[in-house]
Amino acid sequence: LLVDTHCHLTFDAFAEDLEEVLRRAWGAGVERVLIPGIDAATSRSGVALAEAFSELFAAVGVHPNDSRTWGNETLLALREMALHAKVSAIGEIGLDYYRDRAPKDLQITIFQTQLDLARELDLPVVIHNREATGDLLSILETWVGGMVAESHPLALHPGVLHSFSGTPEEAGRAVDLGFCIGITGPVTFKNSAQMQEVVRAVPLESLLVETDAPFLTPHPHRGKRNEPAFVRFVAQKIAELRDVPLLTVEIVTTSNAERLFNWRVKT
Ligand SMILES: [Zn+2]
Repeated sequence: LLVDTHCHLTFDAFAEDLEEVLRRAWGAGVERVLIPGIDAATSRSGVALAEAFSELFAAVGVHPNDSRTWGNETLLALREMALHAKVSAIGEIGLDYYRDRAPKDLQITIFQTQLDLARELDLPVVIHNREATGDLLSILETWVGGMVAESHPLALHPGVLHSFSGTPEEAGRAVDLGFCIGITGPVTFKNSAQMQEVVRAVPLESLLVETDAPFLTPHPHRGKRNEPAFVRFVAQKIAELRDVPLLTVEIVTTSNAERLFNWRVKT
């Protein structure tokens, strides 16, 4: 009973053995996987995978590191894809000041355009953030504030801060805005004290589990390719850190994902 809320199954890393990867995921109790896009092309192939497998769902969006792929037709293409019954979110979108692959002002413009699209379509957002927490939280505060002012339903559950790596205080600000906090494999590492602190500080009702596969492989598979079956190690670590049964973590995080993404086509 688990959902991998962030897994890049469209990446080349899974081209050879996708069916086996999925079989291992179902065997490990993973019921659903959300595939985020990083540009128009991966968004489109994510939708195609979601069409082919009932357990797979897609998010469509342009990642900040791929901002330079944004063109005149991109917004139209994303809007059209987002109408598909198996598209559950806009993402992954956000800001990345670490990799610096696109100027900040371009990243912010594209981020805001996609936030507006999410609001228009009433779809939650999957947020990527790297070393941009100040700008990111202030943009999200304005976005959510605008939706609260007009009683927009999305204001209740606006999205997830995926693979969260900030402080407990920053996590608290995001949770106050209604966001979920996505927990990934590094929480299982010995040197991840801050992430473990976040897991203890945030209400269980605001946590999601994810792999971000093929990246961020948890212990004890660190160094290998990550895959959705390994989301179990993230849930196990959360159970250990919060001193609750694993089943509790499975039930609550799965229902958190259901509440946020609303899996429009039921499997
Ligand atoms: Zn990702």
